[in-house]
Amino acid sequence: MGGPPSMKQHSLNLPNIEREELPVDVLLIGAGAANIACAIHLARLLKARGIEDKTILVLEKSEEIGNHTLSGAVMNPRGMAELFPDWRERGCPIEGDVGRDAMWWLKKNGKHSQFEGALCPPQLKNHGNVIVALNKVVGWMKSQAEELGVQVYPGFAAAEILFETDAQGVEKVVGVQTRDAGIDKHGAAKAGFQPGMNVRAPITVFGEGPRGHLAKHLIKRHKLDAGKNPQTYGTGIKEIWEVPAATGAEWKNRVVHTGGYPLGFDGYGGSWIYGLADNQLSIGYVVGLDHHDAKLDPHALFVKWKQHPAIARVLEGGKVVRYGAKTVPEGGYFAMPRLYGNGYVLVGDTAGFLNSSTLKGIHLSIKSGMLAAEAIADAIVAGQTSAAQLKRYEELFEASWARDELYGVRNWRQAFDQGFLAGMIDSAFQMITGGRGLVKRRSGHADHTTTRRIGESRFEKPKFDDKGSLDKLTDVFHSGTIHEEDQPAHLLVLDTTICVDRCTKEFGNPCQHFCPAAVYEWPSEGEPKGPTVNFSNCVHCKTCDIADPYENIEWVVPEGGGGPKYHGM
Ligand code: SF4
Repeated sequence: MGGPPSMKQHSLNLPNIEREELPVDVLLIGAGAANIACAIHLARLLKARGIEDKTILVLEKSEEIGNHTLSGAVMNPRGMAELFPDWRERGCPIEGDVGRDAMWWLKKNGKHSQFEGALCPPQLKNHGNVIVALNKVVGWMKSQAEELGVQVYPGFAAAEILFETDAQGVEKVVGVQTRDAGIDKHGAAKAGFQPGMNVRAPITVFGEGPRGHLAKHLIKRHKLDAGKNPQTYGTGIKEIWEVPAATGAEWKNRVVHTGGYPLGFDGYGGSWIYGLADNQLSIGYVVGLDHHDAKLDPHALFVKWKQHPAIARVLEGGKVVRYGAKTVPEGGYFAMPRLYGNGYVLVGDTAGFLNSSTLKGIHLSIKSGMLAAEAIADAIVAGQTSAAQLKRYEELFEASWARDELYGVRNWRQAFDQGFLAGMIDSAFQMITGGRGLVKRRSGHADHTTTRRIGESRFEKPKFDDKGSLDKLTDVFHSGTIHEEDQPAHLLVLDTTICVDRCTKEFGNPCQHFCPAAVYEWPSEGEPKGPTVNFSNCVHCKTCDIADPYENIEWVVPEGGGGPKYHGM
């Protein structure tokens, strides 16, 4: 069995370790909306075909389902309504139907312009959509899946992919090995050491979220991105605020997106304010990681945004109750990897199912899971899980409304590579040319290649001089993040000599800026040997894995159960 482990992971890999073997029929890695939709739809399809003896298992690294799920979120209900036509009656948790919506353009001088009704850009119109806390939705979907016999194991982190090569030399994915538990910070087994198990399945579904650490290696190993644009990401920072009752009433079911200050025309990004139930607001800021500034700090942009008078007025008298951060795959249709291979498929954010013009992906993720389920059901009936068989998933996608939606904005994000104004002009042409714009197919750049030298940096940090300007560590406290401290760091700085000999001079060690959880600190005194890595703060956003200019940081999975505890996010 299995080729050699292809990734650096924290497992002891000693030959005498006996690992439990767990055979299942379909294995899903990650309990996000895409994978749970896949499991639900698959269970129903198999039942409809009289197949009731198949084990469908979802593994999730977080302690509880939904703890690592974060989104704005305004959900287009199209995907959910396909999965459950009676989703409302069944009790899918929503915060409210979108009422008033608008776009605000924030100016540097503290003023803002408001665009509402016909003046609101069509991408930012949200009538018919619903405001949700995605981690509540995912928790609800999990209970629906369990009613159908799907097994869901939280606290199990998939650490490595298991491969097998047949007599013809064809490699296939045959499952995963879960992360060993009980390894100390020096890499030795502690008392109570629990070896990870080998979970084997003819089909593995990777729905790990953006920049899945297993999918990243699979995409590279099997060249799933051949002929595609590089994926480009944004980092989103989010807080939930409790506000005075009058503000809560004014904002209930209201949706505002903002552009302009503080990013201006220097990059791709913007923000949101969504009115939730119980006098709460969801607020957040997303910035493209192809920003050129070596000191780009998404959290600092968020703080500056909160300090703008138009936003500060909304937040007046309120307090932060939750914090989180995650990346979003913005590259669109041409940046999606091949969706299948021998023994596996990719779904959801892992496969780039996100409409970056509207910054909406939940409906597309659910649809991707459902389409994958249809292909998997056919594969089970055929008794065949080769790439040739699972290609059916990509064919189904190409014939679906999800493809139409993504193809209709296929050049959206890359048009902004030339600057924000050029992007706005091109996007206007895209609207009248069915998504084409001025160029038939725009290419793109991997985010880590776009950082400019530190000498060109103009980024200024905010002053933390008001109640709303929480620093990163205070915010991390509100994320509920906890990791077992006595374990090896799950952020691997692959070559610290690059940090010391090159990065300091060339880019000024951007990891100390872009991480929204203050994980990386650059020593201010003495002879530096590399960054201090405070891994226990990590909120699993993957920004470092994407944005490091030398690709010198690798995010690997920590012990199962560690990480943020997102509730109501
Ligand atoms: Fe995100 Fe990396 Fe910081 Fe963790 S260490 S919070 S993955 S940037």
